[in-house]
Amino acid sequence: MTSKTAHAYRIWPKDPAAHLFEVRVAVRNPDPDGQVFAIPAWIPGSYMIRDYAKHVITVRAEADGRDVAIKKLDKSRWQAAKTSRELTFILEIFAHDESVRGAHLDASHAFFNGTCVFPAVVGQEELACNVEIVAPEAPFGKGWRVATSMRRNTADEYEFGGYTAGDYAELIDHPVEIAQLSIGEFDVCGIPHAIAIRGKTRVDMARLCRDLQKLCAHQISFLGAPSDLDRYLFLLNAPGSGYGGLEHRWSSSLICGRDNLPARGDEGVSDEYRTFLGLVSHEYFHLWNVKRMKPAAFTPYDLSKETHTGLLWVYEGITSYYDDLALLRSGMITIQSYLELLGQTITRVLRGGGRRVQSVEESSFDAWTKFYKQDANASNAVVSYYAKGSLIALCLDLKLRNETAGRISLDDVMKEAWSRWGESGTGMPEDGFEQLCMDVSAVDLGDFFDANVRGTGELPLDSLLKSHGVDYCLRCSTGAKDKGGKPSGDINPPTVWLGANLGDRAGKPVFLSVNNGGPAEQAGISPGDELVALDGLRMDLAGCEARTRRYRPNDVSEITVFRGDELVSMRLKWAEAPTDTCYLLPADEVEDAVKSRRGDWLGQ
Ligand SMILES: [Zn+2]
Repeated sequence: MTSKTAHAYRIWPKDPAAHLFEVRVAVRNPDPDGQVFAIPAWIPGSYMIRDYAKHVITVRAEADGRDVAIKKLDKSRWQAAKTSRELTFILEIFAHDESVRGAHLDASHAFFNGTCVFPAVVGQEELACNVEIVAPEAPFGKGWRVATSMRRNTADEYEFGGYTAGDYAELIDHPVEIAQLSIGEFDVCGIPHAIAIRGKTRVDMARLCRDLQKLCAHQISFLGAPSDLDRYLFLLNAPGSGYGGLEHRWSSSLICGRDNLPARGDEGVSDEYRTFLGLVSHEYFHLWNVKRMKPAAFTPYDLSKETHTGLLWVYEGITSYYDDLALLRSGMITIQSYLELLGQTITRVLRGGGRRVQSVEESSFDAWTKFYKQDANASNAVVSYYAKGSLIALCLDLKLRNETAGRISLDDVMKEAWSRWGESGTGMPEDGFEQLCMDVSAVDLGDFFDANVRGTGELPLDSLLKSHGVDYCLRCSTGAKDKGGKPSGDINPPTVWLGANLGDRAGKPVFLSVNNGGPAEQAGISPGDELVALDGLRMDLAGCEARTRRYRPNDVSEITVFRGDELVSMRLKWAEAPTDTCYLLPADEVEDAVKSRRGDWLGQ
């Protein structure tokens, strides 16, 4: 495992109070023209330029105990003066980003992604990387243990010490959590798995491990264990609230609210725990879909700049389709619960006008500047390649089942994708997924891809779900908390809408976004306007929602806002609320053939 020429990295939580890591890398044979070091501009899985080098506070280099001059080449690269001796590059890095994409250090823990802290030795990225993870000085670090999927070298399990990675790409694919941790271990198909949790969760660890074991075993039974999957680690940060996940090849970083996890004695699956299980399922599915089979544009990753592909909907959308479906197929949730989740996803897509403007292929391509950098107009201009991508996956699955009399489904397409692009490491070409679907099914899908992937057509959800024994129902939203997925149960739901999204900003009701063509836009309301009064009555968020129920289509109101510090009054004509809220019901009294199609699809 340890090669003579391996780069020797060392990371030390130097000053937790100041959030400073010290990182060193010793290079045995530096480039004779002057060794260049580079910090990535982005992290695989999160498609936005983050310029991690901006958090580098100081750099220096030495050889044989003497300083070596350093020149900054651009925003994220440095070059050391020529030397033939072993060269050590030393950085101090500020770490105060508690997301799954960042690095964070304080008195309670240290967390880092390699992209944030380890510079690449440019031109020698193929060499093995040894890493010494060093404990902070007292009084910091009491009871801290180290959790990472990186292979241990000299370190004992969950301890500080030596770790190793095969090359730089692997080095930065092993996030590290160092804290007082609760650790649960379980075995899936002979492969050791673990979950390391930071936070005062009081979780029922035995149940959590049982549930994760079941879910992971189901997913392994779907596409088969990758040949290099010899371990897997879930790193979970569980603060008071939060949500997020990032996939890696042998691990994933997750954030969820600490009370979303089951306590001892809890039974059933709460909505919050279902959300957590969906997150776990999503990141675990990525271990195949995007960490091993990936777009050709990502083989290899160029972490210095944006890397465009129109295929993110395949990697995120299909993963989003299978994440919840795996909860159902593995027996974690009921059909009713699954249909509720699906209805919520459909509602999210229906409520965004962006689906009429941007295709999922465009949304994938422009993820860097649009999906990841949403402005107040995003709901009018951007479609989520996650949400709509998952609905395209659903439609494709049901359509293939219909057109091949149940012989072929999306499952078969994914199995063939895995055999083409999984173990081989070759990337999927931009037209590869469409071609694959047609190769596997012999169904002509050109029109489907034109309309739904390259185009902005409305998905044929109603008819495809009906053919699988599920009724597609639409209704109006009952208010801001209504995520869809269920019948409203509201006897007097609002009949009109504003066509705008109101939110709380510093205790004030503010228009966060305004729908194209809706009553608010036609009245002249802009994003950022603070709602003051409706027909002379002072409004807060709850008041506005309650008051909306007292109007009918074509009623006219005077709406008063602050735009900056100027009071503006406008004439608002109320319009009929759209039926943009979906719920799905198992159709009763369906033919046996339909019932059996539904059973095949849902794995029941
Ligand atoms: Zn994902």
